[in-house]
Amino acid sequence: NGTSTPAHNDLFTVNSPNVVYTDNEIKSKYTYRTTLVNEAADGKLVVTPKETVYDFKTERKVPKTGMMLVGWGGNNGTTVTAGIIANRRRLVWDTREGPRAANYYGSVVMGSTIKLGTNANTAKDVNIPFHDILPMVHPNDLVVGGWDISGLNLAAAMDRAAVLEPTLKAQVKKEMAEMVPLPSIYYPDFIAANQEDRADNCIKGSKACIEHVEQIRKDIRDFKAKNSLDKVIVQWTANTERFAELIPGVNDTADNLMKAIESGHEEVAPSTIFAVASILEGVPFINGSPQNTFVPGAIELAEKHNAFIGGDDFKSGQTKMKSALVDFLISAGIKLTSIASYNHLGNNDGKNLSSQKQFRSKEISKSNVVDDMVEANTVLYKEGEHPDHTVVIKYMPAVGDNKRALDEYYAEIFMGGHQTISMFNVCEDSLLASPLIIDLVLVAEMMTRIKWKAHSSDGSATKDFKNFHSVLSILSFMLKAPLTPPGTPVINALAKQRSALVNIFRACVGLEAENDMTLEHKLF
Ligand code: NAD
Repeated sequence: NGTSTPAHNDLFTVNSPNVVYTDNEIKSKYTYRTTLVNEAADGKLVVTPKETVYDFKTERKVPKTGMMLVGWGGNNGTTVTAGIIANRRRLVWDTREGPRAANYYGSVVMGSTIKLGTNANTAKDVNIPFHDILPMVHPNDLVVGGWDISGLNLAAAMDRAAVLEPTLKAQVKKEMAEMVPLPSIYYPDFIAANQEDRADNCIKGSKACIEHVEQIRKDIRDFKAKNSLDKVIVQWTANTERFAELIPGVNDTADNLMKAIESGHEEVAPSTIFAVASILEGVPFINGSPQNTFVPGAIELAEKHNAFIGGDDFKSGQTKMKSALVDFLISAGIKLTSIASYNHLGNNDGKNLSSQKQFRSKEISKSNVVDDMVEANTVLYKEGEHPDHTVVIKYMPAVGDNKRALDEYYAEIFMGGHQTISMFNVCEDSLLASPLIIDLVLVAEMMTRIKWKAHSSDGSATKDFKNFHSVLSILSFMLKAPLTPPGTPVINALAKQRSALVNIFRACVGLEAENDMTLEHKLF
């Protein structure tokens, strides 16, 4: 115990009585300041600042981590795998625009920085890579594996995806040809009928059963043992499924869900089977597609088992833009009145989404992304008032993975005027989604090593260190329809999502939340 020299290769140490480094842990005491508002009898608001002191402890040993992808042989699965190999081997390849080198652009963890503080001598900002704020896993060290209903090896699947340059593919081909997805579970009713011709690598049975859960659990254990891993994270990047119907007695509670699986109920989706298997195996499970994998019973099961879950639907192109732009418009006091979003794409995801039920999942996921921003502005919007919002997706094979997103934002400005913003966004889909897959794994893994305890004696004090809540809403920045602990608000605004992520990590090393007052440059 005590302030021993850090045994690990930290970029910085925090010099504060509230932060203690041991060989195995970073311990911080953090004062969380919030504000409570009460309405008095006369209707006036009474505002009371509140302080809660938390102890955080963060395990310093970076575990050997495996990433298992469901849908490994798809566009995202093959692109993220090739990208990790290329980075690990520091590959450089020729393109018609000259040589290109492997990078992690588009990953918030690997590609962005955090302001650590102000240089004591020069008063300039000191920024560090996000990855260095806590002892995080490096993506180059991830062992990648997974399942797919298509049995193509990853080199052939990468060719099918038609995303990466041939000169890059040639350099990773040999390694990827040896990677073959494990057989998966396929319940044809959940994905588009047009996917059937690639389903040649399936475990027997076409509806839920406990044997499927057991098989997936065994696959996770075997992968962990074979690669001598400390941790595994499972992530769904398989086809978008239709929504599962919520049926009382079937998927409403953890017990009912387990019974429904045992009795082979038709409304249990393959993604829910993967979630259940991961929860029972104690490994985090993240859903990168829009469907309601996390039916209430699955969430309850995760809570019961203290397992981490996160979702839903990667926020890569159009929606990421939307959650930044709408945040800007509404916080600038401009009254957004409609959003029309069109997409066309030509990859297998687009083919799957050309089927109505699967499109519906995507439509729902894309539709609610401005709600929190609209609700928060009681000056511009009356209660229940909402901008019009339409989402259209069309399958256009010729454009392949280079999805086109066309958006029109129509807003009311000063004195009855209008502002129209029209946007054309070419989203190279899998190249935008792959870094998010990495971020989700790195952050989810990090969250398995952070524990907290309330320090204060205000009634909320806890005796023992605990995990964060099972539902990892800290992953929201990377997700289109963020899942939050039951009964808690959903935050869609991109800047708020990022500051939650950054500031929670800062708290773990005893640093104040990032604030942009820069009084040091204003008061002297
Ligand atoms: P893809 O169709 O290329 O890949 C999906 C893979 O999943 C396919 O190889 C398919 O064979 C496999 N699969 C289907 N059902 C399976 C099952 N039950 N078990 C195992 N494998 C199964 O799609 P993609 O472009 O890689 O996208 C994957 C998912 O991510 C889609 O649901 C998509 O909507 C979602 N998503 C993608 C982006 C993006 O920018 N690329 C953004 C948000 C969400």
